[in-house]
Amino acid sequence: MVVIARTDPHATYDDVAATHPDWIAVDASGNKRRHWASPEMWVTCGLGPYNFEFMTDVKKEIMSRYKVDGIFINRWDGSGMCYCEHCRKNFKDASGFELPRSNNPQDPARLAYILWRQQRLFDLWQTWDRAVRTINPDSCVIPNTGGGATSSLDMKKIGELAPTLMADRQARSGLMAPWAIGKNAKEYRAALGMKPIVGIFSIGLEEPERWKDSVQNGAEIRLWVADLVANGMRPWFTKFGGVLHDERWLKPVEDIYRRLAGWEKYLRNERPLARVGVVYSQQSNWFGTSREEGHVNGWYQALIEARIPFELVHDRLLDAAHISQFKTLILPNIAALSDAQCDQLRAFVTNGGSVIATYETSICDEWGVRRKDFGLADLFGVGWKGRTEGPMQNSYLRLEHDAAPGHQMLRGLEDAPRIINGVWRLEVEPREKFAQVPLTLIPSYPDLPMEKVYPRVEKTDIAEVFLRESGKSRVVYFPWDIDRTFWEVLSVDHFKLLRNAVEWATNEEPSVTVTGHGVLDVTAWRQKNSFTVHLVNLTNPMMMKGPIRELIPISEQKVRIRLPDGLRAKKVHLLAADKSPRAQHNGTELTVTVPSILDHEIIAIDVG
Ligand SMILES: [Zn+2]
Repeated sequence: MVVIARTDPHATYDDVAATHPDWIAVDASGNKRRHWASPEMWVTCGLGPYNFEFMTDVKKEIMSRYKVDGIFINRWDGSGMCYCEHCRKNFKDASGFELPRSNNPQDPARLAYILWRQQRLFDLWQTWDRAVRTINPDSCVIPNTGGGATSSLDMKKIGELAPTLMADRQARSGLMAPWAIGKNAKEYRAALGMKPIVGIFSIGLEEPERWKDSVQNGAEIRLWVADLVANGMRPWFTKFGGVLHDERWLKPVEDIYRRLAGWEKYLRNERPLARVGVVYSQQSNWFGTSREEGHVNGWYQALIEARIPFELVHDRLLDAAHISQFKTLILPNIAALSDAQCDQLRAFVTNGGSVIATYETSICDEWGVRRKDFGLADLFGVGWKGRTEGPMQNSYLRLEHDAAPGHQMLRGLEDAPRIINGVWRLEVEPREKFAQVPLTLIPSYPDLPMEKVYPRVEKTDIAEVFLRESGKSRVVYFPWDIDRTFWEVLSVDHFKLLRNAVEWATNEEPSVTVTGHGVLDVTAWRQKNSFTVHLVNLTNPMMMKGPIRELIPISEQKVRIRLPDGLRAKKVHLLAADKSPRAQHNGTELTVTVPSILDHEIIAIDVG
């Protein structure tokens, strides 16, 4: 049995505050901070001697007395800005600036602070890690850290330092989709590769009111864990305290582990088989003015609906070793990209890769400073005219069926003459002649009063998607916020454009095709002697706002799988149904019929 201790340094008591008043966090007005939930306690400074000295001694004491295998460190990175004497002095010594009072990342003090805080926390983590390893070389500290584009510590560096991590997205809340835990898994894997990542799931509700002694509905827990496992994480349940106020969670959690234990051989993933990567960018969030996750979420939802297996990709890991597994990279409004990152994307395309980009992608350098033109203008074949339009009311896109007859970008929209536009668009100019322009702009026109609602211009020649081909690679650029608008509005027309863009750009026979009704998260993996295709059934009236009441089976799905490397299937099994399905072989292509899925089915294919 492996034993991990847990420390949480974010709060302390009066006696400590009296002896070491400088250990307590200070707010912007200069007041020491009482704890928001337990007012008899004080909030501590995360970046000063409380953590660097006192908590280092605490960790040494735990490790030398108990020889645990590791120490998990919770809430270790401070509780917001601290203006204590140590933070003021240390930041001034390091950067020459006073602590910033504005949140604008283009303020030099704020920019310096974003970098300084990260360095301080990486130093702290390493200080603690060295201290425990000196006592027990096989141990480590495991910081509670990491996440996606909106997380504050560089995932590339985290991926280099951490032998393992715990992803702390315990349950969904508010309008979070049930795929959010899978997204978390993909965010971590982008930086940690196939190192073991634990998905912490809660047995309770996860809402701002923090009912930490609550019990969640069993169906909700079961689906959350199914998506966690399908996306490659190891499930770890968490329960506050040792008292069972409500025992209803025991059976569902027992059932989950019992089922997973039976499937274990097929959960030892070696690599994902996805051919599409969606890039996320922390630097665009740190240094850009927009902290909008809607662009990534829009693509995420569209790829789920399109049943296309995909991975997330960290924008600072665009070297060939990290991206050569993909045919298509999607850049959802990745505004901040350095010249070197733009070169990496160009090299990807030169080597046969395809790129899809939206809106302000590459319009800033890596520090969030606007360029005069896109860093990727040559890749898009399009330049920026320096103006942005929006928020647009009542604007449309004309589908150019005559100019681009039967174009793959218009699949499923054959009977649509026009569809809604997005909300923001860049004014751009083509720098070359585009062979086919399937979408053009119908500019905004009044939406009131009623008799004024008619288009002032029926047709323009302003393209709203740019398609380039060169050899096997294809480049798609949307100069508007199609992904963010899709996440906001969920128009099926935008979904079709997003799906069609991926299929046109990827331009190869997909490795997995799943046909049937409903919403499924589809992931595909290679194990040592097998392949698996996970089908997680997200079809539910509570899908976009939970908790899920009951699991509802969906009808028959046909799954076509192209086995790589000329391998042939020896045995095909449905792990959840515990049945051998109807399977047809056609060379290296396998067609499997899955009669029904309750929450999670895995097609396990043993290969020779
Ligand atoms: Zn401080």
